Order: sequence, then C-alpha cells, then structure tokens
Amino acid sequence: MNEFIIAVLPGDGIGPEVTAEAVRVLAAVADRYGYHFGFPEYAIGAAAVAEAGEALPADTRQGVTHADAILLGAVGSPLLASATGNQRPEAGLLALRKLLGAYANLRPVSVHPALCNVSPLRADRLEGVDLLIVRELTGGLYYGEPRGRDESAAVNTLRDSVAEIERVARVAFRAAQERRGSVTSVDKANVLEVSQLWRDTVTRVAGEYPDIRLEHLYVDYAAMRLISDPASFDVLLTENLFGDILSDEAAVLAGSLGLLPSASLGEGPGLFEPVHGSAPDIAGRGVANPIGAIASAAMLLRHGLGLVEAAEGVDRAIGAVLAAGARTPDIARPGERTLGTGEIGAEIARLVLWGGAVEPAL
Ligand code: NAD
Repeated sequence: MNEFIIAVLPGDGIGPEVTAEAVRVLAAVADRYGYHFGFPEYAIGAAAVAEAGEALPADTRQGVTHADAILLGAVGSPLLASATGNQRPEAGLLALRKLLGAYANLRPVSVHPALCNVSPLRADRLEGVDLLIVRELTGGLYYGEPRGRDESAAVNTLRDSVAEIERVARVAFRAAQERRGSVTSVDKANVLEVSQLWRDTVTRVAGEYPDIRLEHLYVDYAAMRLISDPASFDVLLTENLFGDILSDEAAVLAGSLGLLPSASLGEGPGLFEPVHGSAPDIAGRGVANPIGAIASAAMLLRHGLGLVEAAEGVDRAIGAVLAAGARTPDIARPGERTLGTGEIGAEIARLVLWGGAVEPAL
C-alpha cells in the first residue's frame, strides 16, 4: 500500500505557518519514495470557531476518523482567552484527543550537538540527553468530573483507572524495549491516592517486561533531576498533568519549544503535532521555527504510517540543516544570521528529495 490520507488541521497562530512546511516536507517524501499522500484540510481551534461556531466542528470530526494519520499545527487565540465550552479553542484539541482515543502522548527530547549552546543549561549537562516522555493523555485532572466553579470556590477531579494506567504503561515499556531498557515512572504517591494506584499498577505491569529496569520518582524530584541530570532518563512515564508540565520543562533542554515533536497514539489514527502552542506573539511574521512540526511529520511517517525509512530521511535532513547552521530566531545566538520559517522548510524538503546527494545550501 502506498496511498495514504493525512488529515491536516493547521489551527491558529503559527499553526498554519509551521504546518505548511511539514506538508511541504511530506510532499517531498512522497516524490522521493513513491508514495501518494492526500492532504485534506480541516478547521480546529479559534479558526473553527470563526468558521463554524465551535472548536471541533462535525466536518473535522468526520474527516479525521477517515484519515490514516492526522497532522495538527496548534490551537489558541488571545481573542478567545475567556471563551467557555466548545467555543474554547483548547477544548477542540481535548475533544479531538478523546475522539481518537489517543491515550498515549509520546514526546522525544534530544539535544542536537549543534544546539548545545542554545539551551540555558550548561553544555556538559546536555551531553547524551535522549529521553522519551510517555504521558497519559485522556484521563486525570483535565477530564475528571465533577468540575466547575462558582463565586467562592472551584473544583476539578483527579481520576485515573487501572485500565487507563495499564495501557499507557505498556506503551512506555514497549518503547523502552526499543531504546535503552529503562522506565522512570513519575507520581506523587506520598500524597495522592490516585498516584498510589498509579505506582502499584505500573509495578504490576513491569512484571510483564522483565528485561526493563523500572524506577519510581516523585514528581517534584523528577522535575529537579530533569534539569540537574537529564541524561539519566530513558523513558519517563507519567500521568496527564505531570506530563504536561514536565514535557515543557524538558523542552528547555533542547533549546526551544519550537524544535520538539509529539505523537498521540491510541485506538484511532495517530495525531502528530509540535509541542508548542499557537505563539500569538510571533504569529504572521514568518519567523516561527518549523522543525517541531517537521519532526512531528517524521513521527507521523514512523508511528502513523509505518514508513520508517522515510521517517529516517526526514530526521537526517533536519539534523543536516541544523548542523549547517540554519537558525530561526528562537535558536539563534546574538548576531547570528537567521532564516524564516519557509526557508528552513524548503531546505529540509530539498534535502529529503535528494537524499544524501546534496549538501545543505544556506
Ligand atoms: P506557546 O507554545 O504558544 O509559546 C510559548 C513561547 O514559545 C512564546 O514566546 C512563543 O513565541 C515561543 N514559541 C512557541 N513555538 C515556537 C516556534 N515554533 N518557533 C519559535 N518560537 C516559538 O505557549 P503559550 O504562549 O503559553 O500559549 C499560546 C496559546 O497556545 C494559548 O492559547 C495556549 O492555550 C495555546 N497552546 C496550545 C497548544 C497546542 O495546540 N497543543 C499547546 C500549548 C499552548
């Protein structure tokens, strides 16, 4: 099979800018490797509220369930910051993840050697950093009921079930088998009953994977070690809220939020998106870093379509372009020449198309 439908949901802010570059790179993949990709486009987020009155319209819901994989930009708009219900752009993303049954969020973080000096951390701390955060995505505090607020108080509910913990834990253990064989499970079992259930369940699931080393860390210490000794992690397994926070913290290691990809996998087609948001502060200026979105397209090829060779081609092209010194402003040092979103995307696409036959020309 070499025909695939990739639903494209550009979203808001810099979402459409970076998604366009990821699609450009995927089109180069199709040319180079002889695949046929369809790229039907659907609205989500504030763009969908403007177009159809809700953040995840029926048209989008239908389109994504018929796709082989989904590429998303980002959602969120300051104009809708106080919107509620299905008018809230972020509600569209949460509903999409739920619709797809996308319960495991994979966020790889590594430090490209050429970018060791971009992170605020000392370069020697960054040596060997190559970790994967596996975050539970459809349970926990973001979905628990009851929730609500009145004038004097507010409530959210933290709930995780054994079945939810087991399935995401298995994703983490299987990922560790493909990597360096170690899982760090993060919780707050000294305080929260939900975390005690988490720890007991992960420990039991670990019995199915005798080849994997398991350690448990409290989230506060994990946050500290992520900065003081990030190379000590292989796979970091955690629930929804802790994973949200730790993965942004881990992004600092790489040098910019704009570099990092993610995959959300589960029952339906996989959802692939950069970890960053809609970045309204830089939207529309053509300066956003497209590498997180392009690396998400590589994850889409690998995990969504099973096209490993093509995924490796994209990852190699990203590495070559960074090694050649291509920099958007977020990863440039003072005085360094910078390139725009489209220039970086076009160069990565060119390298993908020609494989190792051409050098970066920047
Ligand atoms: P953000 O990720 O949009 O931006 C944080 C900072 O990182 C900003 O200074 C931004 O300019 C910079 N940045 C982000 N991506 C970049 C890129 N590709 N290149 C260069 N710089 C980049 O987070 P925020 O400002 O907290 O949120 C803005 C909006 O995005 C909010 O509405 C929020 O709810 C939404 N959001 C959406 C998602 C998502 O769609 N998955 C994730 C996080 C935030």
